[in-house]
Amino acid sequence: MKSDQCMQVQFWGVRGTIPAPGPKTVRYGGNTTCVSIRFDDNKILILDAGTGIRELGKELLKDDEEIFLLLTHYHWDHIQGFPVFGPIYQPGRRVHLLPGMNRSTVFGLLAQMDGIHYPVTPEDLLSDTEFIASGSLDYLRKHGIYVERIETNHPGGSSGYRIERGGRVVVFLTDNELDPPGERTTEYDAFVEFSRDADLLIHDAQYLPEDMPVKWGWGHSVIDHVRELARAANVKHVALTHHDPDRTDDALDRIQADSDAWFADNAPQITCSVAYEGLIFDLPASCGSNFLVAEQEVLLVQGEGLAVV
Ligand SMILES: [Zn+2]
Ligand SMILES: [Zn+2]
Repeated sequence: MKSDQCMQVQFWGVRGTIPAPGPKTVRYGGNTTCVSIRFDDNKILILDAGTGIRELGKELLKDDEEIFLLLTHYHWDHIQGFPVFGPIYQPGRRVHLLPGMNRSTVFGLLAQMDGIHYPVTPEDLLSDTEFIASGSLDYLRKHGIYVERIETNHPGGSSGYRIERGGRVVVFLTDNELDPPGERTTEYDAFVEFSRDADLLIHDAQYLPEDMPVKWGWGHSVIDHVRELARAANVKHVALTHHDPDRTDDALDRIQADSDAWFADNAPQITCSVAYEGLIFDLPASCGSNFLVAEQEVLLVQGEGLAVV
């Protein structure tokens, strides 16, 4: 990453529920959830270990960044890539595994490597691996990574995160139903405050209004509600992710066009991306004087700060 950046966010898996490879999903990608945030001090925070983590792992074999893997929850689409994450087989590689909910352990991540569901077991890991049973956020702070947590509305529970560095804010809210039926774990207004003024809001947008009411209560958001949250929280850019496995590239193109039109009409200061594998956001430190010079497409939001490369 460039010297004036403080965070670089990259999408490695943008699909929800189950991998969806094939000719109809080749442009946005079929891998399940994995997002990386590279920091300016040779550390990388990985959010979730869906199948997208496999390609990220190959990249990480080329360098020596210290790896922090923070999970939102243990549904398959968020852990299933872990056994094929290359760095865990690198002798001496520093890897920290962090559960999202304090009541949990990393059990879900490692339980799948039991010799029955996967041939390799945790005893076969070669990396210098730390398993953090609880207190993930304190542990991260000790390593200079500042993260806040919120519980999302999702069956079985899940965590959302707000990551800050160099005056920049990235909010990661996957597997969250903003308007669930029945009792809510977290009220809508709390998500607005949690996302307030973020440079980048990454949010679950699995469903369209026509998917309802059948999928009401399944723990994922309708895209319209995510747009409203972005406006209410005054974020600079919103990335829609956790796409339904049946959502084709053409359908996602239409969602991008509809979202562009909605924001142009309702909140023109906000820009929106339908996330795809390989999407990168470069965030320079806000106190720095140098604005970003990106190699490809550049998207400067409110005159500064965020670029889609
Ligand atoms: Zn999921
Ligand atoms: Zn889930």
